[in-house]
Amino acid sequence: VIAIGQPEHSAVTTCAYCGVGCSFKAEMRGEELVRMVPWKDGKANRGHSCVKGRFAYGYASHKDRILNPMIRENISDPWREVSWDEAFAYVASEFKRLQYQYGRDSIGGITSSRCTNEETFLVQKLIRAGFGNNNVDTCARVCHSPTGYGLGQAFGTSAGTQDFDSVEHSDVVLVIGANPTDGHPVFGSRLKKRLRKGAKLIVIDPRRIDLVKTPHVEASFHLPLKPGANVAVLTAIAHVIVTEGLANEAFIRERCDWSEFEDWASFVADPQHSPEDTEKFTGVPAADLRGAARLYATGGNGAIYYGLGVTEHSQGSTTVMAIANLAMVTGNIGRPGVGVNPLRGQNNVQGSCDMGSFPHELPGYRHISDDATRDMFEKLWGVTLNNEPGLRIPNMLDAAVEGTFKGLYIQGEDILQSDPDTKHVSAGLAAMECVVVHDLFLNETANYAHVFLPGSTFLEKDGTFTNAERRINRVRKVMTPKNGYADWEVTQKMAQAMGLAWNYTHPSQIMDEIAATTPSFSGVSYDYLEQNGSVQWPCNEAHPNGSPIMHTDGFVRGKGKFIRTEYVATDERTGPRFPLLLTTGRILSQYNVGAQTRRTENTVWHAEDLLEMHPHDAEQRGIKQGDWIKLASRSGDTTLRVLITDRVAPGVVYTTFHHPDTQANVITTDFSDWATNCPEYKVTAVQVSPSNGP
Ligand code: SF4
Repeated sequence: VIAIGQPEHSAVTTCAYCGVGCSFKAEMRGEELVRMVPWKDGKANRGHSCVKGRFAYGYASHKDRILNPMIRENISDPWREVSWDEAFAYVASEFKRLQYQYGRDSIGGITSSRCTNEETFLVQKLIRAGFGNNNVDTCARVCHSPTGYGLGQAFGTSAGTQDFDSVEHSDVVLVIGANPTDGHPVFGSRLKKRLRKGAKLIVIDPRRIDLVKTPHVEASFHLPLKPGANVAVLTAIAHVIVTEGLANEAFIRERCDWSEFEDWASFVADPQHSPEDTEKFTGVPAADLRGAARLYATGGNGAIYYGLGVTEHSQGSTTVMAIANLAMVTGNIGRPGVGVNPLRGQNNVQGSCDMGSFPHELPGYRHISDDATRDMFEKLWGVTLNNEPGLRIPNMLDAAVEGTFKGLYIQGEDILQSDPDTKHVSAGLAAMECVVVHDLFLNETANYAHVFLPGSTFLEKDGTFTNAERRINRVRKVMTPKNGYADWEVTQKMAQAMGLAWNYTHPSQIMDEIAATTPSFSGVSYDYLEQNGSVQWPCNEAHPNGSPIMHTDGFVRGKGKFIRTEYVATDERTGPRFPLLLTTGRILSQYNVGAQTRRTENTVWHAEDLLEMHPHDAEQRGIKQGDWIKLASRSGDTTLRVLITDRVAPGVVYTTFHHPDTQANVITTDFSDWATNCPEYKVTAVQVSPSNGP
């Protein structure tokens, strides 16, 4: 027991780890955070928390934090500490030089899903109004961009349909490509509670995640498909629903486009999509496919929850649309207990997408070619906006290698560690003349930076995060920024140095601008949030109290759209040299590449990434429990230790990616989702062989 003593001051704020968005009271003594107390009135967590939100905050005061801006003209030079003013002037003059020398489109920026809505809004505004192009992208590119595309196509908006409370009304829960008990622990606990009370569970995952069998919970069906076969499995389930007469015809006639439904129904009814044919190449028994389909279609309120195991595939967007098809064909949309629910990874990935971080969309998911929307922003910002979509992150890197893209502002994102094909990322960064990294720590990307701007933690600023259920939660400042400026102030100072007349004195003014320009946020203000605690968008004249459940009377796009989802096998194939398929995931006590969780001393954290391997595959290679192994793919190789387990099927191996030493993205390929370029992190052909260690 640690004697904490009485806090001197405190504020209710929002966890900066995952997309559940738990509320905490941050208790302070002076400028030191002494305790994070789960907040019982927090509507996402109701007093619960996981180990990360409660204990992993030590990184805010960690010695590795960089607190002074730094410049170096060449990346081989040593860093030189400079004043903030010198740093802002240098960045502005370099970015202007690059645009003069190489053209308006030679620079761009990346927003962060770790920063607030207000900060993200300002970064995209800087790029659109200051740089004069749409070369803005976000780390959602590598996680949930297919959700944006797929749900946008099917329903008309890019967000989960339900609030977390909805699960209390579910009779059947289908979890696909997500591991809620590790990835979204507080929601995972709520889900388990509902399952213990009798709701049925279907898990579609190559790996036997904890939910499949845990005390008092056992899935009715676990469909352990071959990595990459999501679309085939979902289409086989649709085949059973349509051919066995389980479609909800009344719902479809009222809410969806009937002729599109008929076209889709004839497609899925084709015998080639039968469970028996699908079993041959997915590895999922036909009887289980039929059983799962019947349960989802007839078991009462059916809800689907999914994660990156759906999106990070070459058919990520197709899989999202296949999920939407299942919800519509069974009428499981628009009321408590049902719906389609992407479990968002980062604390504000929903918000960063909402705020116009994509190169083709202004805030509120309005296309950059939409004249009326552009006209409104142009009048407010006093600029002319470019009407052509800008470059996505992979395209920026390609253009850099080709010599046409020269400068990049990266806020709160370590693309060298988190993006696919590390060699290509480093080549792109190395080819640029001005890389500006704005972060808490000298991350891996900073190896290629010319300017380092120190970032601030969520404890040092005011703002809002939007969680996976579209809930806008307040973030409240409890300590003075250790580096001198909150991130929104840094972006504003950069904009001012580039000649933009910005003059925000508090993030509430940025939220007022968001509300004035974004219909789904028009009812949101800091006063509203103060009075109500939080709200789920859309919050506007039509929905003054927010929208816990979407598409209740009609879809945002009008009629729901059924879309044919043809299964196309990934180009990443196994063969004699690389006979195993690698897939990846997270564990409870770590977060993404571990930049924060590895820099906390509050508790004992998971020490290393391990490779999970089936006993049969291990025995064939003479590998024993705990041995060092070499993991090699067509892209590269790395070394880690093995955990022999039957959680994974023969032919499949699995690892986490929390430690930089693991370098999981040295292994992954550069294949990506056809619609959004989201990398195919979840399928890589590999070989595993004994090793003496690193
Ligand atoms: Fe933070 Fe997510 Fe844990 Fe909640 S579940 S405390 S938001 S990491």
